[in-house]
Amino acid sequence: MTADTAAVTIREVGPRDGFQNEPETIATDDKVRLVELLARTGLRRLELTSFVRPDVIPQLADGAEVLARADIPETVSVTVLVPNRRGLERALAQRDRIDEVSLFLSASESHNRANVNRSVDESLAGVGATIADARGEGLRTVAVLSTAFGCPYEGAVDPDRVLGICDRLAAAGADEIGLADTTGMANPRQVAELFARAADHVECELTAHFHNTRGQALANVVAALDAGCRSFESSFGELGGCPVPPGATGNVATEDLVSMLHEMGHPTGIDLAKLLDASHAVQQVLGRPLGSHTLVAGPVDWAPARG
Ligand code: ZN
Repeated sequence: MTADTAAVTIREVGPRDGFQNEPETIATDDKVRLVELLARTGLRRLELTSFVRPDVIPQLADGAEVLARADIPETVSVTVLVPNRRGLERALAQRDRIDEVSLFLSASESHNRANVNRSVDESLAGVGATIADARGEGLRTVAVLSTAFGCPYEGAVDPDRVLGICDRLAAAGADEIGLADTTGMANPRQVAELFARAADHVECELTAHFHNTRGQALANVVAALDAGCRSFESSFGELGGCPVPPGATGNVATEDLVSMLHEMGHPTGIDLAKLLDASHAVQQVLGRPLGSHTLVAGPVDWAPARG
């Protein structure tokens, strides 16, 4: 494993996946401050907000304002989520401030229907058209496939079906495909198998997006790493799950992911101390203890104990 093949890229999705799941809307000033803290941790990909309908997700109704105001270094690739062409049009009003758009659909019919009231085929057609438009504007495109490992309505999701959808997304021009376990059902063995098959099969960059719903997110990360995956999405503070009931968890915490990767010899470019500052700041804004472990324990300290 050389330094080059070990390097891992992380997309921080807390300002989108996390903030949209909070019961209270975070003040715009706080969002701008938190996004700017994240953007100065050394991370290279940041999902800043989404252009969904404000009546559907009022928590992100100020997305355009956050995008316009946040001072983001050139080194950070800014992603915004767009649900459809209308969302892309709204994002394009600030074309110079974005580098990538992410689009999503579910691998299972029932979850897709529950989420966007369309069949998977209908979503694939819509996502494909939006990818084409986004590429026409010179944007990089990321297609995220929810319920790639399991569906709360249907149970197991056939890996052949997942790979078939990946083929169609790659053919539509997706630069990157995220395999997402949004409901926290995946286990490491299943992750190892799907990522190994996908790596052989899919031409574009593959990204893993795990939720820590059952405490298995980091184990799933290791399984994906072993299968060659070098791109992950995570959320500072472990934001992203519905905080009701208390204890329910969200995306794997970025600081837990970064701490583990660095300890394992996988550089990320992220300064863990600065990242922890951002997570402490969001914890203060939300006023409740967050699920992240490293936020509580601090970084691993290998210095001999003093005293
Ligand atoms: Zn997520």
